[in-house]
Amino acid sequence: MSKPAADPPDNGEEIYDILLVDDQPIIAEAIKRMLVTEPDMRFHYCQASDRALQLAHEIQPTVILQDLVMPDTDGMQLLAAYRNDAALSEVPVVILSTKEDPHDKSAAFAAGASDYLVKIPDRIELIARIRAHSRSYLSQKQRDELLQEIKIVHEQLKAVYAQLHQSHQELEKLSCMDGLTGISNRRHFDTYFSQEWLRALREKISTSLILVDIDYFKLYNDHYGHQAGDLCLQAIAQALADTLQRPGDLAARYGGEEFVVLLPYTDAKGAENIAKQLLDTVKKLAVAHAQSPIDAHVTISLGVATLTPDSSVAPSDLVQIADTALYQAKEQGRNRYVLADISLLPKAPRPKAKVKTRKPR
Ligand code: GH3
Ligand code: MG
Ligand code: MG
Repeated sequence: MSKPAADPPDNGEEIYDILLVDDQPIIAEAIKRMLVTEPDMRFHYCQASDRALQLAHEIQPTVILQDLVMPDTDGMQLLAAYRNDAALSEVPVVILSTKEDPHDKSAAFAAGASDYLVKIPDRIELIARIRAHSRSYLSQKQRDELLQEIKIVHEQLKAVYAQLHQSHQELEKLSCMDGLTGISNRRHFDTYFSQEWLRALREKISTSLILVDIDYFKLYNDHYGHQAGDLCLQAIAQALADTLQRPGDLAARYGGEEFVVLLPYTDAKGAENIAKQLLDTVKKLAVAHAQSPIDAHVTISLGVATLTPDSSVAPSDLVQIADTALYQAKEQGRNRYVLADISLLPKAPRPKAKVKTRKPR
């Protein structure tokens, strides 16, 4: 291997490394002389074919000038070895042959040679071809590297996007959730109720709503303390939510110690059934309530309302009649449900109304 023929230019121009693999030093000398005047070219020489691959790895040439006929491993075998080597497979190989043989030529191109010159080539032609091959090799390499970087950045962006998407979903879930009880909050209920109301209106199906209020909860707090009151609220909320079976059913905290259960596609009979189950669930929880005037344990009262929406009623009407029924359940002694009286509905058609946001009692 020879030293660089001349100092390479220091002006940011590309430097081309040329590796000549040829068993005849006289050829090497001739080619070296041709290239010595070119400041952008560094000439390297390998005489023994069994060292060619190793040298090519060390030098990383931009062009290999490969002699065809060599002792031991010949040029075609070396060409195949370059093409099978991941680090060298794209390096341009110019075959140097002693004769212009069409058979050798087509075999060389078929095996992946980039060019074919007869020894000793014309200086100007050799330099022009080395430059052209080196340039296209280096720019292809740059493009590949850039593409690789783009792929990496793309993968990183994909990971960031997936993370953002997950965070967004978690935030969305949190924004629908009541902080204390972990079930849906009032905001989510209002949105969901609006959607389901419109669906019921379109499909002319009945929708039921149950308002649930814990009995004598002020007394509970007064006796057991606010923290115990919170735990009680959590237990009841979870029990209410767990009682619901259908995917469309929703239990939400309506405010304070009051909950709302929405039962889409459910008629009055189905809603009454659920009300019984809710009463039973809370009974089975058996949370002690020493101060309750009506039971040894925490109980609930429920107002149950069912409507088949049409243009004469608004979502707030369903809440209103459920609320009235809840009030009656309280009046009648608590720990019970009352079915809403549908005749209490306003008769006159009214404009579309939003879900009523009544303050919990
Ligand atoms: P009724 O049977 O008529 O419903 O009586 P009540 O005592 O349950 O009703 P009232 O409206 O008088 O009292 C509700 C109580 O619920 C008072 C309030 O401090 C308590 N409360 C509301 N929200 C929370 C909460 O987040 N945590 C706790 N610990 N208590 C709450
Ligand atoms: Mg109460
Ligand atoms: Mg209340």
